[in-house]
Parts: sequence; C-alpha cells; structure tokens
Amino acid sequence: MKIMDYDVVVAGAGLAGLACACSLTRTSVALVARELPPALPADGIFDSRVYAISPGNVAHLERLGVWQRLPEAARTPVYGMRVHGDDGRSVLDFDAYEAGVSALAWIVEDSRLQAVLFELASARPEVSMHMPVELDRFDADAKGVNIALGDGRRLGARLLVGADGAGSRVRDQAGMSVTASDYGQIGVVANFRIARPHRGVACQWFQGGPVLALLPLPGDAVSMVWSLPDVEARALLAQPGERVEEAVFNATFGALGRLELIGTPRGFPLRRLQVPHPVSMRVALVGDAAHVVHPLAGQGMNLGLQDVRSLADILSRREPGRDPGDGALLRRYARTRAEDTLAMDAMVDGLFRMFGGSGIARVLRNPVLAIANRMPIFKSLMVRQAMS
Ligand SMILES: Cc1cc2nc3c(=O)[nH]c(=O)nc-3n(C[C@H](O)[C@H](O)[C@H](O)COP(=O)(O)OP(=O)(O)OC[C@H]3O[C@@H](n4cnc5c(N)ncnc54)[C@H](O)[C@@H]3O)c2cc1C
Repeated sequence: MKIMDYDVVVAGAGLAGLACACSLTRTSVALVARELPPALPADGIFDSRVYAISPGNVAHLERLGVWQRLPEAARTPVYGMRVHGDDGRSVLDFDAYEAGVSALAWIVEDSRLQAVLFELASARPEVSMHMPVELDRFDADAKGVNIALGDGRRLGARLLVGADGAGSRVRDQAGMSVTASDYGQIGVVANFRIARPHRGVACQWFQGGPVLALLPLPGDAVSMVWSLPDVEARALLAQPGERVEEAVFNATFGALGRLELIGTPRGFPLRRLQVPHPVSMRVALVGDAAHVVHPLAGQGMNLGLQDVRSLADILSRREPGRDPGDGALLRRYARTRAEDTLAMDAMVDGLFRMFGGSGIARVLRNPVLAIANRMPIFKSLMVRQAMS
C-alpha cells in the first residue's frame, strides 16, 4: 500500500490538535481525527463545556484568523474575578481595569471554537484531514515516523505530534514516563440563567475541598464548574433540575439571585497528569497528552494552546531544509514549555491542597486570601501569570 508522506502528522483533533493544524507553517500537515467536531448547540442553549481563554492565547487565535470568525456574542469578556474563601468573609478580587488590560480572559464555548478551528484547518491547502479514523500505532527511527491508521492506511512523517488527550496512545507507545493521580473529584458542569446581572465577573467559592466556579456567558447566563468529591457529584448529577438549582443557589449564598438550569449537567472525572519530558524520537506532545491540571484555575486548555504556539514558533524558525523532527528542535520545545507547565501545575495543585487540606493549611488559607487581596503587587503578578 502507498504511504502518504507529510512533514508533520498531528494525532487528535481536540482543541490542541486543531490549533496545531492551523498554526504550523512551512510544513505539510496531516490531521488524524477520531471524531468529527461536536455539533453546535441550538440557539439560546449554551455548550456545557466552556473555556476561559487567556489574552495571550486570544492574540494567537486572532493571528490565525480564528477569533474574528467567532460571533461577537459568543466571546464574553471577563472584567473581574472574585475568589471567596471558605470562612464566608475572605475574598480575593482581580480587576481588569486595575491590571491595565481590557479583559482578564474571554469565555468561549468548546463546540464553537472547535467548529471555527476545524473550518480553518480544512481550508488550509497544506493540511490534509484524515477522519474519522484513529492512529493505531507507529514506529519512529532516525529517518522518520511510520504511522498505521485504524483503517489500514499508512502515513509517513518527519514528526508526529500527539494531541490525543489525557489517555494519549502516542505518549504510551513512545514509552514516555508519566505520573498520574486522581483528585477524587468530578467536575460537574452546567449552565444557568440568573436573576442578577453578572457584570462580566467570574466568581469562585472554595468550600474546604470542593470548588465552585461561575463564569459569565452572554446575556443573563453563567456556566458552572463545581468540583465535588465523586460521591457528592454523582448524587448531584442524579438530582432533578430544581434540586440542582437550589444546591447552587445555597452554595453561592444567592450571589446571583435565583438560578434556572439550561440543559443537562455533565460530569468529568478530575485527574492530574505530569509528563516530565514530553518529547521522544520524532514525537512531541501538546495539550492534555502532555499535562492535565485541576480546572480550578481554568488553565488546562490555555497550557495546551501555549504548547501549540511554542512548537509552531520553533518549527517556523528552523533553517530551510531542516528536518522538523530534529532532536535539537524537540528538546528546545520541551525546555521552553517546562517552566510554564511546572509552575501552573504547582500553583493549581497547591491551591487545591491548601483549600482542601486540614491542620495548618486550614488555619492559614483564609487569612492568606485576605492579605493577598491587599497586595497589589502580588495580584498583578498573578494576573500576569494568567495572561500568557
Ligand atoms: C470540567 C472542566 C473544565 C475545564 N475548564 C477549562 C477552562 O476554563 N479553561 C481551560 O483552559 N481549560 C479548561 N479545562 C481543560 C480543558 O478542557 C482541556 O485541557 C482541553 O480540552 C484539552 O484539549 P486537548 O485537545 O489537549 O485534548 P482532548 O480534548 O482530550 O482531545 C483529544 C482528541 O484526540 C482524539 N484522539 C484520542 N486518541 C486518538 C487516536 N488514537 N487517534 C486519533 N485521535 C485520537 C480524541 O477523540 C479527541 O478528539 C477544563 C477541564 C475540565 C474537565
């Protein structure tokens, strides 16, 4: 059978894989996607998966021409963020105006972003789409990568990018070491109409382990991520809508008034996954294949888009004729990403443990929050970290 040859094969067409196919320049790319993009929600209904996208990633999506194609009503700016401790008093506020930026982040729905990225990737002459089919296995050697697809076809490449999510087959077949642990929580996601305006402010409540976040959506709607212990999450998911509304109303102390559930809540098990070295011979990982963090800071996908930016930048700067799977380029990519990924993972996991722990963590966490709120330098450092 004839082998189709490319510079880069990207395995996985979630947000990281699609963004990769749109970002790589000076290369022929094959995108191997197991599924077609998810259907768009009906009018007036919102996707239950939404992302808070950092300004740095928004700027990249603008450069790709993705951002402009999202309807304006589908990009909700976050002007402020209010984090509540678990003592009912301590808060930490972030404000875009104080930080000197137009917005701290923008909220977009997963399916809308995927649809635009998919359209753009399909329209690029240098990208060939292979779908719906999965990467079955591959062999890499000094000359290239030989990839077998589930339908028997074979692809050849200089570089294989694993954008195939937390359970990455590319990572496992490359034999990369991985540390995975379970947070023992499920992220319950749901959208609500609210009685009081959100004014573009994202709110979060630490609850001594569980964490509840409400992100602003267009108009009078919000999107919830409530990270709850497995048993509690399953119990909540089994409740009728009115009980869910009541539970969220109570947990948020009525901050946004009465809530009306839109659509059906869904649950996502929460894990932490670290890959100390996300490259191997002719293979690089991006997105959740390379790291999974707790969603309490809304940064998982942001890290994935940063991976894509970094890999695309390194490959675009290579000398003419240089192999995109060259080991030195891949090591540069791994070094570039190590610091941001480690810092974000440590910050998110540290917050999870501080607000879920007992003993000294329990004594200190609320005072720390209140003190941090009075430290403009600390706040601007935090904002800068989340902007990239
Ligand atoms: C509750 C919750 C809320 C979150 N909120 C935020 C947020 O506000 N902001 C944020 O930045 N992040 C957030 N995240 C994190 C974010 O969802 C993930 O980081 C992101 O979706 C990962 O994208 P990905 O493309 O790397 O992986 P995935 O979305 O898992 O995509 C992987 C793709 O690869 C495909 N695939 C797998 N195996 C193969 C194969 N062998 N061959 C071909 N294709 C394959 C899959 O079908 C899938 O399409 C949240 C996560 C959770 C759980």
